[in-house]
Amino acid sequence: MNLANKLPAGPLNGKAALVTAGASGIGRCIAETLLAAGARVFVCDVDRAAVVDFLGENATASGAVVDVADAAAVEGMYRQLEREFGRLDLLVNNAGIAGPTALVEDIEPDAWDRTVAVDLNGQFYCTKYAVPMMKRTGSGAIINISSNAGLFGFPYRSPYTASKWALIGLTKTWAMELGPHNIRVNALCPGSVKGPRIDGVIEREAVERGVPTAAVRDVYERQSSMRLFVSADDIAQMVLFLASPAGAAVSGQSIAIDGHTESLSCDIR
Ligand code: NAD
Repeated sequence: MNLANKLPAGPLNGKAALVTAGASGIGRCIAETLLAAGARVFVCDVDRAAVVDFLGENATASGAVVDVADAAAVEGMYRQLEREFGRLDLLVNNAGIAGPTALVEDIEPDAWDRTVAVDLNGQFYCTKYAVPMMKRTGSGAIINISSNAGLFGFPYRSPYTASKWALIGLTKTWAMELGPHNIRVNALCPGSVKGPRIDGVIEREAVERGVPTAAVRDVYERQSSMRLFVSADDIAQMVLFLASPAGAAVSGQSIAIDGHTESLSCDIR
């Protein structure tokens, strides 16, 4: 029986994707969107329970419990991916943590190191092992989830901002290195995304700065011209575009998905 004839037609039929930190949050929305578009999807996540839940809900997906800041664990994950899929067409470098919310003089070196280890080193490790697989098939797409904190200064978030700016530089560098191999590299720069992560950031910031939660939320909302928090689906749809034939000529770009933001001022008035 030809199984391909039984699969629903989708723009990513026959493609294999890895979504890091794909078991919850934005990554899970991206992973489920790619599955719906016909891709085979592998997720990694440091949260074992979230991986179990994701795989329970998405029977055709694969996954592993991996901390992307652990280079050896990432290398091991790629061995599993190679065994299970035998190819990789799309890497979504989504893993990232918010890190400390503090003035630069109050950030502990350990907190700095951990944020950069996940948000920057982890994306390097995942890309390093993806590229040889993509070169083998002669094409690929890498999508780095940066942030609009990678486009502006973002007070109280030094290591996060440093990592997200660095990702934009790497996106341009990798696009130049890999373009001749038909591998496209782009960055997405979301603004604040609706959900528990931004709620937690706002609450922690309110406590740390001794101001009402509503005042902090208002500041975040006023950062965008459209006065909105974006949805995970807004990001997943852009991933789908870049991963599909529609995005075939787009590389080296950093695309803001943030309702138009010109600065990330954190002034509480
Ligand atoms: P989240 O905090 O909801 O976490 C999503 C997943 O990441 C969780 O399942 C968690 O276990 C996993 N994770 C955390 N550390 C990991 C590690 N070291 N290795 C593997 N998995 C790990 O995150 P989110 O809000 O979905 O954000 C996803 C990406 O989008 C991040 O890179 C983030 O910086 C970026 N982003 C988020 C927002 C926002 O407002 N949420 C805005 C702009 C950019």
